[in-house]
This record gives sequence, structure tokens and C-alpha cells, in this order.
Amino acid sequence: MSSRWFAPALLAAALLGWLSATLWPDLSWLHAVTAVLQNTFLAALRMIIVPLIFFSLLSGVLQLRASNSMGRLGGVTLAYYLTTSAIAIGIALVVVLFIHPWTDQPPLTEIPTVDVKLIDTESAGAIDLIGNLLGSMFVNPFTAMAETNILGVLTAALLLGLAAALSLPADSKWPAMLNEITGVIYKLAGWVLMTLPIGLFAITHQLTDRLEFGTMVALGQFAGVVFGATLFHGLIVLPLLAWLLCGMPPWKLLSAISQPLLTAFVTSSSAATLPLSLQTAEKKLGVEREKAAFVLPLGATINMDGTALFESVAVIFLAYMFSVPIDGGAIVVIFLVTMLASAGAPGIPSGSLAGLQVVLIAVGIPLEAIGLLLLIERPLDTFRTAVNVEGDLIGSLVAQRFTRND
Ligand code: ASP
Repeated sequence: MSSRWFAPALLAAALLGWLSATLWPDLSWLHAVTAVLQNTFLAALRMIIVPLIFFSLLSGVLQLRASNSMGRLGGVTLAYYLTTSAIAIGIALVVVLFIHPWTDQPPLTEIPTVDVKLIDTESAGAIDLIGNLLGSMFVNPFTAMAETNILGVLTAALLLGLAAALSLPADSKWPAMLNEITGVIYKLAGWVLMTLPIGLFAITHQLTDRLEFGTMVALGQFAGVVFGATLFHGLIVLPLLAWLLCGMPPWKLLSAISQPLLTAFVTSSSAATLPLSLQTAEKKLGVEREKAAFVLPLGATINMDGTALFESVAVIFLAYMFSVPIDGGAIVVIFLVTMLASAGAPGIPSGSLAGLQVVLIAVGIPLEAIGLLLLIERPLDTFRTAVNVEGDLIGSLVAQRFTRND
């Protein structure tokens, strides 16, 4: 997706949606047309989500085979990716526990009905919750896909990937083939996301009569919390981790990786930044080429700290705005599902919208809620993509450090 015109187009679309709804509130045909556009856009997002997540994760796991030293390198890389994603989500959840200024504003008054809910978190105790989770995970993969049971789809992709990684012969064509299929689905996702300006116009038009001043203030407060937490993770937690684990001081690290960070910031795409990340890891961080070639593409696919953090705060914010109760069980679900959903999000501008749907569905928030986020999502994408790329680059450094004797 070429990005030069994209941000202005989104801004213009949102303005147009707002203006048209404010100037002609009684134009019923325009209201009907924007309703159709909004529903089609959301349906298209829903259409790509299952194949996107399934193939992206499956081929991500299969990339684990790509390295000769798969065992150690794969283990270190996965452990690092899982830990840092968990830390990012943990930061988000702890931050919103204490800082949630938007609750001073009233939630939206008109609440759309909820159609799908992945797990019934209101069913009481922890054992019931775990039972529900397991019940959603281990289902026929085709049923899971047909019913958009994302937890089932993620489980199937992970298990299938693992089985394939362990059983396929070394010269198997499958990993390359799956990689190509994933590329095709990314292309499709890119097309859908290219229609974002149209979707945004329609959704803003539809939302305008529900958007009060308080809602705009709440959105600004949400953006502020995401911004602060993302900077905390990117400027303090990750550099500190690199310092502790690899002995590289934060100022040296940040200056060494400044170019890919800037590129990620400008393009909002970790996939587009990948070539520069590979070069930087080798030339500036001293990571061996084969190791970088394994860790970084895998990271651009499955390791997205900024995205995980954004999705966690977003789902809590939207739950409040759409009056969906969030209890302890729902927090556990948010933690687990965000972990997997951020792994399945493509590294393209606004790629996290696909993953976000999964988390929304998981706790029973209507998908229309995404419309509200679209108004503020673009500027936040710049920072979270930079943090996504930073996490991958530090991952390559950690992998280099802990597999030195391979
Ligand atoms: N733009 C992000 C990336 O490419 C994905 C996202 O939307 O969070 O890493």
C-alpha cells in the first residue's frame, strides 16, 4: 500500500463523513448508502481474517525449520518473542487498571447488538473458564473456520505448523509454498485495507450522530494512554532488556537502530521495513546473517509488541464505550487472545485491525466498535510499528547472544 496519499485520504474521508452527516442529517439515501458501505467494509475485514491468521501463523511456525540450528535458535527466539509480547500486554493491562481517564466521559448511548462471542466469560469460576477456553480451542478446524472461532483457528494453525515442522522432509516444498500463499493473502488484506478511506467515510458518517464532544475527548484520552504506554515499552522496557541480556547500553542501541525505526515510523509497516532491519542487524548490531535471516522475518510476522499493547488498551477502552462488562475472566481471555491475535496480524499499515476483531469478538464487543478507533488509529500506528520493529531487532541481538556456540 503506497502510503504518501493514504494518511491525507483517511483524514479527508473522516472529515467528509462528519461534514456530510452534520450538513445533511436528514438525507435518508445517504444514510442508507453509508450503512451499506460500512457493513460491506466490515464484512470484507471479517472475510480476510480467518485465512490471514491461519496462514500467517502456520507459515510463521514453519519458518522455524529454516535454520540449521533450529533447535536452539528457534527456542531462544520463541522464548524472547513470547516473553516480550506478554510483557507488552501486561504493561497495557496494568496501565489501564490505574489510568483510564475516559471513564469520566459517558459511554456511547446507542449500543449495537452483539452477534458473536467466542467464550462465555460470565459463566463463573476459573475452572469453567478454562473448560470453555479448551472447548473453543480443540474443535474441528473446518468448523472453527466456518464459525470464525478464532481461538480454534489459531490452535489448528499452531498444531498443524508444529506437526509439519517436525515431520516434513528437509527438502519439502511446503514451507516455501505456504510462504507464497501467505504473501497472496497479505496482498488481499492490503486491498481490503486500501478501502479504509471509504470505510472510514461511511463509519464516520454513521457514527456522527452518536459522536458527542465527550466521545472525542475520550478518544483523545485513549490515544494519550496508548502513546504513553508504547513509549514506556519502547524507550525503557525493551532497551533495558537489551542492556541486561546483551550488555548493549540503550543510547548505543537506539542510535544503531534509528534508521529502521524511522522507516517503520514513516511507513507504518514492519514488513516494508524488513530489508532495512536485516541490513541493520548484520552491519550495526553484529548479528550473523543466517541468524538475522531467521529471527527478523519471523518477528515481522509474529512478534508485535506495539500492536499487542495497542490492542489490549483498545479492547478495554471499547468495552467501556460500548458498555460491555469486563470481569477477571475476560481479562484472562484478553491476555491470551491478544497474544495470538497480535502474532497473526500482518505487518502492514493498520494490520492490527484484523487482530483486533479477534479480541473484540472474544469478549463480545460489536465489530462496529472498530469504527470509533479508526478516527485515531493512524497516528498511533506510526509509534507502535516502530516498537514492533525495535522488538524484532533486539530479538536478533538476543538470539545472537544466546546461540553463540552453535
Ligand atoms: N502497522 C503495524 C506493523 O506493520 C501492524 C499494526 O497495525 O499494528 O507492524
